[in-house]
Amino acid sequence: MSTWQAQLQATIDSVVRRSNAIKALVIGSGVLDQIPQLLNIQLNTRKVVLIADEKGFEAAGRQVEAILARERITVTRHIYPGEPRLKASVENATALIEAMRRSGGLGLAVGSGVITDLTKYAAFQQGLPFFCVATAASMDGYASAGAPLSDQGFKHTIPCAPPRVIVADLDILAKAPAEMTGWGYGDVAGKLPAGADWIVADALEIEAIDDTAWPLVQNSLRDWLRAPAALAAGDPRAMASLFAGLVVSGLAMEFYGSSRPASGADHQIAHLWEMEGLSFEGVPVSHGTCVALGALTILSLYGWLLTQDLSGIDARAVLAKRASLASEETEIRRRFGTGNIAQRSVLETRAKYPSDDVLLARLGRLKTAWPALRERLTGFLMPTHELRSMLAQAGVVTDPLQVGISRAHHKDSVLAARFIRQRYTVLDLLNDAGLLNTAVGSCFGPGGFWAPIDAGATPI
Ligand SMILES: [Zn+2]
Repeated sequence: MSTWQAQLQATIDSVVRRSNAIKALVIGSGVLDQIPQLLNIQLNTRKVVLIADEKGFEAAGRQVEAILARERITVTRHIYPGEPRLKASVENATALIEAMRRSGGLGLAVGSGVITDLTKYAAFQQGLPFFCVATAASMDGYASAGAPLSDQGFKHTIPCAPPRVIVADLDILAKAPAEMTGWGYGDVAGKLPAGADWIVADALEIEAIDDTAWPLVQNSLRDWLRAPAALAAGDPRAMASLFAGLVVSGLAMEFYGSSRPASGADHQIAHLWEMEGLSFEGVPVSHGTCVALGALTILSLYGWLLTQDLSGIDARAVLAKRASLASEETEIRRRFGTGNIAQRSVLETRAKYPSDDVLLARLGRLKTAWPALRERLTGFLMPTHELRSMLAQAGVVTDPLQVGISRAHHKDSVLAARFIRQRYTVLDLLNDAGLLNTAVGSCFGPGGFWAPIDAGATPI
């Protein structure tokens, strides 16, 4: 094992030791050979159900099966067709539960998002641990304590235990489609504006920065994002670093007890598009792509905010002009109708709507804290065009127009995003300060980062 691999593994081991759920995370070249021993030590079993789709089986499943056979571990295959694309649904997971019961083996998932989520749910429903062999650095859900599944068409995250063991072989991750690695990079890039949102919430005494979760993500984030071009070329070191970022973010959420360490307004925009069922040319737009676009959007708003002087805000004048809770609820129904999203948004918005006194005190704090807050955010963030260039090098889409989102729809999503979660972000700061429409208008106006593009022009 090379020095950097040993260092990375030591860092990961020290994080995993603190996890109640994950007992081993192995990242490296040629690490599939460790699977039999890990099964024995961590899951105490010699009987598994190997769960994969046809592509995952060819990418890694066949090799894993041969390694297990060598050690005389009993394997039952549960292989899904490669086409049509497998759905993360409770219906599919229920069929998997039946198959696992029949064979009596523990689940060994060989795949990425959907295969991991189906196995996670099926194992949890039976009160069993499971084992995960990752085939792509495409999302941060490997280590998360929930499975986003659709249940009769409605998508929600069902609480489940993460895998007991995660094995990520760099030779396999490097062979995943470059596009999928880009999704993982996009998801990790979202941790930058998410960190800024936490700095804001901390400065306004709304949600203090946590001493454990914050450094886990933010002290390494620049490292995880450092080499987008190498990543796109399948470089093992860049791949290992990205995979570590995806899993460590999941663990930071476990330690903190919510997704705050890894998700801010960038994810709110992404969730909106995902709930709308955003697809382009007949294919659902990936979570990582939505997050990358959300991250760029939020960074552009920060770019505008950091040119402002909020220390001169007239708090009484802002209070006099702000929208009442009733008009916020009317606005939610105008945007989302009357279904589930609207009902949930009303509850989230009520939970964070400040009373007059609370808002006045908050604006007072903002005025005093602004010079130091602006300096901290300026040092923490990077210019929007810099992140755009890094995303492009990683092969990630960098303009919503490229996935069929018009400027008008994009702008609307920015204005709607703060309603869907009570988590305090820059969107709430701008709204509290009476500046949200001005900020969004500037970013989407002539000369702004999301300036209107003439019909027929190609987005950058
Ligand atoms: Zn995410």
